Amino acid sequence: MSVAIRGDIIHFTANPFTTNEEQSLQIFESGMLIIEEGRIRQVGFASDLEHLLPPDNVVHDYSGHLILPGFIDTHLHYPQTDVIASYGKQLLEWLQTYTFPCEGRFDDPEYAENVADFFLDELLRNGTTTAQVMSTSHQQSAELFFQKSLARNLRMITGKTMMDRNAPDYLLDTPDSGYEQSLELIERWHGRNRLSYAVSPRFAVTSGEEQLKRTAELMEFRPGLYLQTHLSENRDEIKLVAELFPWSKNYLDVYDHFGLVRERATFAHSIHLPEENYRLLSEKDAAISFCPTSNLFIGSGLFDFDSTIRHNVSLGMGTDIGGGTSFSMLKTLGEAYKVLQLREQTLSPLKAFYLVTLGGAEALCLDDKIGSFQPGKEADFVVLNTNATPLIQRRMEMSDSLIDKLFILMTMGDDRSIEATFIMGNRQYEKTS
Ligand SMILES: [Zn+2]
Repeated sequence: MSVAIRGDIIHFTANPFTTNEEQSLQIFESGMLIIEEGRIRQVGFASDLEHLLPPDNVVHDYSGHLILPGFIDTHLHYPQTDVIASYGKQLLEWLQTYTFPCEGRFDDPEYAENVADFFLDELLRNGTTTAQVMSTSHQQSAELFFQKSLARNLRMITGKTMMDRNAPDYLLDTPDSGYEQSLELIERWHGRNRLSYAVSPRFAVTSGEEQLKRTAELMEFRPGLYLQTHLSENRDEIKLVAELFPWSKNYLDVYDHFGLVRERATFAHSIHLPEENYRLLSEKDAAISFCPTSNLFIGSGLFDFDSTIRHNVSLGMGTDIGGGTSFSMLKTLGEAYKVLQLREQTLSPLKAFYLVTLGGAEALCLDDKIGSFQPGKEADFVVLNTNATPLIQRRMEMSDSLIDKLFILMTMGDDRSIEATFIMGNRQYEKTS
């Protein structure tokens, strides 16, 4: 059966960082998406497509709303859902004071299940349809997350966190147990339905040399595995990594030494990088996840967007829940804009929305499956209300261009702007007013 969606449709067909911005996207005002068996069959103007619809077709009419590909969050932690808005610490103390005790609760499957359900529902409430997610070091935390994602038919990436030192005993694994538990999860989940596995050493502070070596071995186990970790978030963290790996030239060099700087690897934060690191990340096709609400909230620093783009490093956006303060990719883009303002750099609305749709898909090597409305792709998309609050509505009335509307949405919008979220053509979230 086919499903048709009406609305003002926007999606990117090219990279606005390398082509003329306004030629990088298609806009169909009064447009239509036709979906068959969960995939995009056609996109265009409703007036051109409606005669193609079979009589038993289901039509969702969102005329007057914007329809974009579902948002992609390239870095966040589901077990930190209950850590959001924890007061007054920077990274290393924040982990010890709030995060590690909270992650310790994931030895209780009932709690883990409750958080996974809430977290996935919250992603959908915010229009996020794909995410690369850290679990905890408990094997069951990743197991449950996969089960819950499968039940919702979501395209999700996660993995058991590996950490064998510099954290409370109740969270530590060993190089052997981390390897074996990861391997079991890879065998059970990687490539199943829409799920992929990410080998997940937390960061160089909590993984010793043997564990990092085993991480590289795990990456060879199946094609298409991801690697997610953290890099150069905070200055004390960088100092500590230099002490823990005295032979290293810099933080990224630790990962590179073990063969972990590679395609499908995402390095969250990457704030304080020497120039040569951008070159290496670019050469090796690794990606950075820029997490502005977290970087501001934990006081980590201001991301160097221009250097990342100048070196052609693959880039996605991340909320970094629970260091980050919102599940909303709209809010995340708004804070990214402010971080760049403080660096005298800028983020245009088209580049911003590219980064949370097709650009995010490219950063995760998923651009053949999601991120745009190219026929054949999976029909995950979000319906945006451009008049979600009286103030937004008032500002929108002053706006005469779509680009300005997108900028208003990223500056003032949040979960209230999400009217509906569709997964493989099925509506899985609808706002109740
Ligand atoms: Zn993180």
